Amino acid sequence: MSACAKCTSTDLVRIAMTLSGAPVTFGHCRTCEHRQWHSAADGNDLRLPDVLSQVAS
Ligand SMILES: [Zn+2]
Repeated sequence: MSACAKCTSTDLVRIAMTLSGAPVTFGHCRTCEHRQWHSAADGNDLRLPDVLSQVAS
């Protein structure tokens, strides 16, 4: 699926999670420590504030 949005490395740790009933994939770049989230349903990037608001709710 994804490369790091920051450094374009494909060496990512991927963890599938569910947020508010929606499947998402958390990616952690081994190269630059960037963290990113993708919707598992449509592959769109999720912005971190959106993710955090879902976690908090
Ligand atoms: Zn990176």
